[in-house]
This record gives sequence, structure tokens and C-alpha cells, in this order.
Amino acid sequence: MLLIACPYCGERPELEFAHGGQAHIARPAKPSDASAEEWTQFLYMRDNVKGVYAERWRHAHGCGKFFNALRDTTTDHFVKTYKVGERP
Ligand SMILES: [Zn+2]
Repeated sequence: MLLIACPYCGERPELEFAHGGQAHIARPAKPSDASAEEWTQFLYMRDNVKGVYAERWRHAHGCGKFFNALRDTTTDHFVKTYKVGERP
């Protein structure tokens, strides 16, 4: 079973977690002035990385908190997990 290290609770089974997509996606600074292209980039366009990738995760069946993780998409190995707002 794959174990994921929640930065708040420690290692837990993967079944307790929910994937939240790519991490570090910034909302347009001034939404009313953002173009359709900027909204498209923000809402839909994501990287498709082969290798280490920054993702958002939620400990849905634990503390309920969001955190970020660096995961290698080729091996499913979690390189590091860190709290939202921290640098990878
Ligand atoms: Zn947790």
C-alpha cells in the first residue's frame, strides 16, 4: 500500500487522500481585467510532466487539510510533502 506523508498527521494510507490537481496555480491578480486567454490558462491549462511534479492533495479522511506534494509521475514516489504557503 502506498503511504503519503501528510505534513500535519504523518504517514497515512493513500486511501485517506484526495488528489487536487497541479499546485501553485495563481488566480489572475485582477479578475475583472483578465482576458479570455488568461482565464483559459488559469482554469484549464495544466502541465503534463513526466517526472517530478508539484500537486495539491487533501487529507480528506484525516485532518481535512490541503497540502502540496512533489511526486514523480513515472514511479508514483512522493519526493516531499509540504504545507500550503511553503516553498517546495
Ligand atoms: Zn492530515
